Amino acid sequence: MSEEKNEVNNFIRNIIDADLKTGKNKGQVVTRFPPEPNGYLHIGHAKSICLNFGLAQDYKGVCHLRFDDTNPLAEDVEYVDSIQEDIKWLGFDWQNKLFYASDYFDKLYDFAVQLIKLGKAYVDHSTVEEIRQLRGSLTKPGQASSFRNRSVEENLELFDKMKKGEFKDGECVLRAKIDLASPNMNMRDPIIYRIRNVAHHRTGDKWQIYPMYDFTHPLSDMLEGITHSICTLEFEDHRPLYDWLLDELETPCHPQQIEFARLNLDYTVMSKRKLLELVEKNLVSGWDDPRMPTVRGMRRRGYTPQSIKNFCDRIGVTKKNSIISLSTLEHAVREDLDEKAPRAMVVIDPIKVVIENYPDNETEILNASIHPKKAEMGKREIPFTKEIYIERSDFMEDPPKDYFRLKPEGFVRLRYAYVIHCHNVIKDESGKVVELRANYFKDTKGGVTPEGMKKVKGIIHWVSATKGIPCEVRLYDRLFKVPDPLADKNTDFKEFLNEESLVVMEEAVAEPSLENVKAEEQFQFERMGFFAADREEHSSDRRVFNRIVTLKDNWK
Ligand code: ATP
Ligand code: MG
Repeated sequence: MSEEKNEVNNFIRNIIDADLKTGKNKGQVVTRFPPEPNGYLHIGHAKSICLNFGLAQDYKGVCHLRFDDTNPLAEDVEYVDSIQEDIKWLGFDWQNKLFYASDYFDKLYDFAVQLIKLGKAYVDHSTVEEIRQLRGSLTKPGQASSFRNRSVEENLELFDKMKKGEFKDGECVLRAKIDLASPNMNMRDPIIYRIRNVAHHRTGDKWQIYPMYDFTHPLSDMLEGITHSICTLEFEDHRPLYDWLLDELETPCHPQQIEFARLNLDYTVMSKRKLLELVEKNLVSGWDDPRMPTVRGMRRRGYTPQSIKNFCDRIGVTKKNSIISLSTLEHAVREDLDEKAPRAMVVIDPIKVVIENYPDNETEILNASIHPKKAEMGKREIPFTKEIYIERSDFMEDPPKDYFRLKPEGFVRLRYAYVIHCHNVIKDESGKVVELRANYFKDTKGGVTPEGMKKVKGIIHWVSATKGIPCEVRLYDRLFKVPDPLADKNTDFKEFLNEESLVVMEEAVAEPSLENVKAEEQFQFERMGFFAADREEHSSDRRVFNRIVTLKDNWK
């Protein structure tokens, strides 16, 4: 897969190719990513970003970033800023094409007036409940409210009053006058403007009325000259309204709405509302908690932008909703990091080994590759000393037969170093193993098996106890313990949170090559997985590493 070009074919590319052939849109491709600034971006948004920005890149067009900020109640500048930062981090560029739907409020108002003048919109004083009831259902046609036949003059006057704030919230709305018998509920005189006596984060107190999404979206696309307006499948039923508005208003251009299946991932919830709930109830540490499916969270966890892009390319773009396995995303992360990440030995849950026949104050420097397949990345120095740590799980007092790691009176090879033999196990009063005593074999250095010695099968990682660097390691796992936390309608999704999704190991010890690591750097801790220095809390005084992903997919 190339670094820049999303070459995977998909049905949207076929549409664009056909348009280019017939010379539609003067051979241009202009897409847009239209987030509502009411939360942080998640992996689903990343898919839409990769698609929209990816198409613009490949067709030498441009992708606009447009904030769909028509609902002042839920929106906030905090989100506006974070969204921009996240898109940049993913590696995409809107080339100064940054827009806000709120910039079009004047124009949108004029379009609404134009619709009224065409006899295609009316002010309705029915209550929300009345409108809902009169709208009918899939089996029952809608009925006109008593306000549907107001004259153009009356509607113009009332809409002007709505604008001036002469009505209270909810007292009336502006509706498009389309077709109350339409089988498509979206066409049964949809509301296009509502009263909201609240300030907006960009327009302040200027407006008392705000346009609805379905009205704003096609017109914003049109005003920006978007050629292909790509959205998720649930908007398929809104397309007739999208087209109706542009047709009735005889706009100079008519973007084509194309729908694709949204990304769903197992073991995850993706809706911003649900994610916000986890944040507000302190069930996670914030929007950037490394377990969150947010771009922030994935970044903090240590995912690379390239792995997210590769994942989005690989799952492709379809018309059919499905659930993608989280393992597929983790696989993409593993694959990218395996290529790039320097290696290091870190003992996460240490147990001390004293090598009794090794000289007391000696330090021997061993050399190892930074990356086994990339000589150009160079070498690292690993000090070997009399006292070392090994992983608690690499020693078993009473192991099964096929156990090749350390056991009483057993042999094991210390990676890059020597074979050792364990001859004594020291325990505390509770019976917990606190220290092992061993001897080393001088002529086994660096993988050598001397003549007459049986080949030692087990190779384990280790860190010098006197030269190693203390650190905290956070073992992250899936946030939910069931594939679909929303499947059971009678149980709150929060009940399915995985209590073991974070295990903090405070006594980990890293090889000294990790001494000057900077926040966000990624590594493979040999045999343990991929880890990243925490973006927020890692410093030279307190080293904190997050587990990005294990080396193998061992989720059961
Ligand atoms: P949520 O339902 O999570 O709150 P949303 O659709 O309301 O998301 P928006 O800010 O409106 O969020 O979305 C911005 C863009 O991202 C839209 O074009 C939307 O279609 C797209 N998008 C959102 N979620 C997904 C997803 N899971 N897969 C693909 N695209 C998505
Ligand atoms: Mg939305």
